[in-house]
Amino acid sequence: MQFSFSERLKQLPPYLFVELDRKKAEAVQRGVDVIDLGIGDPDLPTPDFILERLKEAAQRSANHRYPSSEGMKAFRCAAAGWYKRRFGIDLNPDTEVATLIGSKEGIAHFPFAFLNPGEVVLVPSPGYPVYHIGTLFAGGVTHFMPLTAENDFLPDLNAIPEDVLKKARILWINYPNNPTAATAERPFFEKVVAFAKEHGLIVCHDAAYSEMTYDGYKAMSFLEVPGAKEVGIEFHSLSKTYNMTGWRIGLAVGNPDLIAGLKKVKSNVDSGQFNAIQEAGIAALESDQSCVETMRQIYQERRNVLVSGLRSLGLNAPSPKATFYVWLPVPQGYTSQTFSALLLEKAGIVCTPGNGFGAPGEGYVRMALTVSTERFKEVIERLKGIL
Ligand SMILES: *Cc1c(COP(=O)(O)O)cnc(C)c1O
Repeated sequence: MQFSFSERLKQLPPYLFVELDRKKAEAVQRGVDVIDLGIGDPDLPTPDFILERLKEAAQRSANHRYPSSEGMKAFRCAAAGWYKRRFGIDLNPDTEVATLIGSKEGIAHFPFAFLNPGEVVLVPSPGYPVYHIGTLFAGGVTHFMPLTAENDFLPDLNAIPEDVLKKARILWINYPNNPTAATAERPFFEKVVAFAKEHGLIVCHDAAYSEMTYDGYKAMSFLEVPGAKEVGIEFHSLSKTYNMTGWRIGLAVGNPDLIAGLKKVKSNVDSGQFNAIQEAGIAALESDQSCVETMRQIYQERRNVLVSGLRSLGLNAPSPKATFYVWLPVPQGYTSQTFSALLLEKAGIVCTPGNGFGAPGEGYVRMALTVSTERFKEVIERLKGIL
């Protein structure tokens, strides 16, 4: 028997990291001590008190049955409480909050609820790949909005052509941003709300990095802007905030009609997240958040070592005030691909070529702050030899 992938799968963009993955595997094979700054996955363990709560919750047999696809009421209440304390926003836990099996799940499923085939989704580029993939799976068409240094890595909404806007249904934004580490402030979010109202767009804000901030910076919620809840929803994740990427727990909050649509899709494709994991999530959300501050300090120290080291080598490294990425412009004479190949071949350092996140990411590499301070010192030592 021969099986061919569906047209839907054949449409997916090519995986641009094939060559890099191959070279990395080769280097490991040769015995090179590879330093991997490629993956956006915290290296630190989930805090103990969260694990303890899971153990206890896992032992209760009531938790062994099917969960509900919209999430436990107690988790949705904890999420609403966290929103109130963190952003001063009131949410109805029944109608304005959904539990997700990681925010990626909700991001990928959301278009199924609101997008008709042929309709357009506005997606930042470079960007998290799932906005585009979710669009393709739902039969939609992606219009990429370039994020460039000239615009502080914010999309230029006025540059979207009229005919595209007529067919557009959903607008994705993501701040603090992966991969550029850019942040957005109130005037931008206000512009987005006004723009969405004018053009009848649904706004989806991916706030996965809202808690990973440094130097005292506090990221705001999109929902803090008046009128935001009329046009949009916000996605959050416990993955980065509490080192819980493997647990698969996130949330969507905001406009009740949009939340209802997402819940309706989910009730037809999944049966929710294990209640014990939701209970552990409640422990995280209701904690004093000191574990988050501890992680901020660790990432900030790593960032300082990496950024000052890169600068001492003459590289034009920006110091991000949020996310755990450094979005580094490559030196003169290199492309994203040739520079990342150089780092791997000559220094055993893996970073991600910026164009892998979309063509406007050309000219950058992304380095994740997910190895120890000692390893970042080693990174700088190795780079001294080759730059
Ligand atoms: C890591 C990340 C997520 C979170 O994914 P989960 O599915 O919640 O683990 C969402 N958006 C962006 C931009 C990310 O980088």
